[in-house]
Amino acid sequence: MGKGSNVQKAQAARERNQKKLGKSDEERKASAAKVKLDSAAFMCKICRQTFMVNAKTSLLYLHVTAKHPEKKDEPTVCFDALAGYDPADPDGLKAAAAPVATVVKPKKVVKKEDDLSLLLDAGLKKGK
Ligand SMILES: [Zn+2]
Repeated sequence: MGKGSNVQKAQAARERNQKKLGKSDEERKASAAKVKLDSAAFMCKICRQTFMVNAKTSLLYLHVTAKHPEKKDEPTVCFDALAGYDPADPDGLKAAAAPVATVVKPKKVVKKEDDLSLLLDAGLKKGK
């Protein structure tokens, strides 16, 4: 009993100590630079609006449709991260049927891996 609250107290004390110790100027600069980088991990190439590193591609796409609706068919004009992103077809079902020039990079990657494992298999068999 009371073990949990002891753990909490210990953690609170640790946090208090860390705050007291503070960070050196260098550490502060480094973390500030990292925060700056993270907060501008994605930048729209058209209007230069930045997005956090943890922004979802759907959010980036939302920016495209909201600010640059004329680019919604080629969102990579705004963000490279949107390559292959198709909001109307999240499962890639339409892409197979429709003649739209969507990027099929993910499929290619899978195929490559398959080829590689086949090659490895063949190599292993030959080696024996
Ligand atoms: Zn923009």
